Amino acid sequence: MVTRVRGAGAILLIGVVALLTGCSSPSKRTAGADYSVPAGGLRGEAAALLSRAIQVDTTNPPGDELPLAELLVGYARAEGLEARVVPTPGRSSKGRAAAWAIHPGKGTEAPIILLSHLDVVPADPSQWTVPPLAGVTGGGFVVGRGALDAKGIAVVHLLTLLELERRDIELDRDVIFLSVPDEETGGRRGAASITRDRPELLRGAEYVLAEGGAIQPGRGGTPDVWRVTFTEKSPCWLRLRTTGEPGHGASAPRSAAVPRLLRALERIMRYQPEVRVAPEVAQMFAAIAPLVPVADRANFRDLAFALDTDPEFRERFLSARGQASLVRDTLTITVLEGSPSTNIVPATALAEIDARLIPGGSCPALVDELRRRVSDPGVEFEVLLSFRAGRSPVETPLVDSIRRVAARRDPTAFVLPQVNTGFTDAHYFRDRGMKVYGFVPRWLRPIDTRGIHGENERISIDNLELGIEVMVEILQDLAEL
Ligand SMILES: [Zn+2]
Repeated sequence: MVTRVRGAGAILLIGVVALLTGCSSPSKRTAGADYSVPAGGLRGEAAALLSRAIQVDTTNPPGDELPLAELLVGYARAEGLEARVVPTPGRSSKGRAAAWAIHPGKGTEAPIILLSHLDVVPADPSQWTVPPLAGVTGGGFVVGRGALDAKGIAVVHLLTLLELERRDIELDRDVIFLSVPDEETGGRRGAASITRDRPELLRGAEYVLAEGGAIQPGRGGTPDVWRVTFTEKSPCWLRLRTTGEPGHGASAPRSAAVPRLLRALERIMRYQPEVRVAPEVAQMFAAIAPLVPVADRANFRDLAFALDTDPEFRERFLSARGQASLVRDTLTITVLEGSPSTNIVPATALAEIDARLIPGGSCPALVDELRRRVSDPGVEFEVLLSFRAGRSPVETPLVDSIRRVAARRDPTAFVLPQVNTGFTDAHYFRDRGMKVYGFVPRWLRPIDTRGIHGENERISIDNLELGIEVMVEILQDLAEL
């Protein structure tokens, strides 16, 4: 049923788009210039722009986002939008920068920022069926690193601004496009520097719409779920270092760095952080209760109580990894370094741990706990990355607008305020008092999201087009309140 609703929406949409693009003013782009609008209406334009964006290598490290910022800013300017390349600190051979553009509104409300990022994680071509940076288009998809995370979002956001211009839509507030560098390694050279040093670009914005939430298509009679992230788990990335007597592998020194590190890691692996239901997480599960099997509804409505008192439910709930990681801190050992040679005993060994804290968790408290468990003063702990995610209110006019647009498109759709297990740049903006929501209107099944940081990352062209249309609708609805 859900597919039918979406299908009907898509057919209707093609008609509306054809009508709108047909009567929009002729492009101000010059013939033969780099920024000419491709054929194929909004769909073709979105696919072509994303394909070009994927071809600009912004693998981070080192990032090198400047050429992509120039491409997007040039594209916006060619249609008369005020846009800027914003250099950011940090060295890389081609330079680092953000892209910024604005669709001015009446100014009666504070702006909304559409936030994305220009950098991508590395892709190993041997694991892909097409070259990851070729921007291949086919079968209704654009394939390539960044198609979902997050060049596809940047393209949807930028074309949202351009469609507002083309359709002569004047809103009560400015809509600001901002695509930053360096999100994938923590944002210190991107969102951190922009929110700290360039407040004039943010113009006292009230809202930020960013990555982190999507629409999960319904299955077997369940409705589509529009997931809107209002808070995230917080990272607490750690490095452990041990030192010991170096020497020859043929005669192991009595106190060597590697065995000492392994003893510490063994104790850390045995540590099971306690199950705790943060208020944000309780709120999310209570909201989703109507969608789960009847037998579990009461448990979801009072998750903390159910986990405490119903061992069978607790076991079932915690066996689902996604659910378990929302009620417990997680620790994953990801990096190990010892000797570069089989026959050399190194003087130091190190390991890195990607720990993620549930809302309300504290990185210093986790480090204290691990120190106590390791109980070896010779193991040094260093915090590599840590911040508090912050949270945005669940009930705001923007979330109401998302709800109304969801209901208009599909009366059965369900809007879920969710806690994200990953982290994004959102906290930098929350720290400045903005209400930040992770939501990009695109229908993604679990199989579609595997490409994020994985292989054969791709997005359907339907999703690009629908994303732009739904964004325009949300912004219009917000203005009509
Ligand atoms: Zn991302």
